[in-house]
Amino acid sequence: MQSKDLLQLAEQFGNPLYVYDAEKIQSQYDRLTNAFSKVKNLRINYAMKALSNIAILQLLKEKGSGLDTVSIQEVMLGLHAGYEPSRIFYTPNGVSLEEIEEVNALGVQINIDNLSILEQFGTKHPNVPVCIRINPHVMAGGNANISVGHIDSKFGISVHQLPHLVRIVENTKMNIVGIHMHTGSDILDIEVFLYAAEILFDAAKNFKNLEFLDFGSGFKVPYKKDDIETDIEELGKKLSKRFNAFCEEYGKELTLIFEPGKFLVSEAGFFLAKVNVVKQTTSTVFAGIDSGFNHLIRPMFYGSEHYIENISNPKGKERFYSVVGYICETDTFANNRRIAEINEGDILCFRNAGAYCFSMASNYNSRYKPAEVLWMHGKGHLIRAQETFEDLLKNQIPLPEIVAVQ
Ligand SMILES: *Cc1c(COP(=O)(O)O)cnc(C)c1O
Repeated sequence: MQSKDLLQLAEQFGNPLYVYDAEKIQSQYDRLTNAFSKVKNLRINYAMKALSNIAILQLLKEKGSGLDTVSIQEVMLGLHAGYEPSRIFYTPNGVSLEEIEEVNALGVQINIDNLSILEQFGTKHPNVPVCIRINPHVMAGGNANISVGHIDSKFGISVHQLPHLVRIVENTKMNIVGIHMHTGSDILDIEVFLYAAEILFDAAKNFKNLEFLDFGSGFKVPYKKDDIETDIEELGKKLSKRFNAFCEEYGKELTLIFEPGKFLVSEAGFFLAKVNVVKQTTSTVFAGIDSGFNHLIRPMFYGSEHYIENISNPKGKERFYSVVGYICETDTFANNRRIAEINEGDILCFRNAGAYCFSMASNYNSRYKPAEVLWMHGKGHLIRAQETFEDLLKNQIPLPEIVAVQ
């Protein structure tokens, strides 16, 4: 997408605004499937928590994607978007047995991540095909919040508990059809990923009726110029070979599953916000934008760096700015960042705004969530309108109504 297109969209739809480039999402999907073209049965399940707009879900469905979900509401959105239940995967953490049973009743593949639920579920529903989430205890991931495979992580069943796991499966005679791991976001080193994969292959040998192995995700995408990214092509080459050899050894053509979120949608997203004030203090030049962590929380939540460009004045002389929001708490998007000279009214563009941006937005400070636009075939299409005052009032019950029924 070009800056002039983005500026035009900000004009047309107002701002702040989320824009997603359909072509980029499609090409990332193709890149992943091409990297694993040597695997006969490959399945990509888009991790929809990254960006859950139903138009995006439908776009990926057209590519042949399945869905990876973490809540029953995500499952319902997926079904609403037109996915077959059999193409939806449910990988929750710490949810109730009741919710898992409800999702199972919808015909969705469930993935169980603790021994307690495994035993309860297996006892009640021994015939249901179940996947289990193994924690290989491999330290991958960019930081402690998004790394989920380490020794003290709350995710998955520890690979050290495999004997106990196998005993539960034998006792309940439950039907284990898949093994899963997800070591966390932002994998920097594919050797670490391959090492974790070996642990999964080892674990898989304990189960005779497997249909698939799910290697999760966590592929790192570049967030700034010259940033490192997961070498998908290299991973594809190495893991495909190893996977095919494992299938031969196992005696069956298994399906290889990935469940990327960030990889598919991060770089496709642009967040546009207008500069309300430029404020010079004794040490800093602040650019205060018409947004805050209510719309994009990643920088404040886990220190993510989103590249910021002044698309209204791209050729301006570069100066140092702190880009801040309007929330009545410190909400700094970027500190001491070199950006082309900013004037009040300029539109700043935040890159990598496709994953974990809108989906983490809130109504804090009673602000509306912004609109979302899909850029497709050279045109912007509104895929979510900005909220209105009615949305803020919806579900609230005013005091006079409570008093009236007493
Ligand atoms: C969040 C999540 C993903 C997606 O992770 P990305 O880093 O966005 O690719 C995949 N699988 C599970 C189980 C998840 O919770």
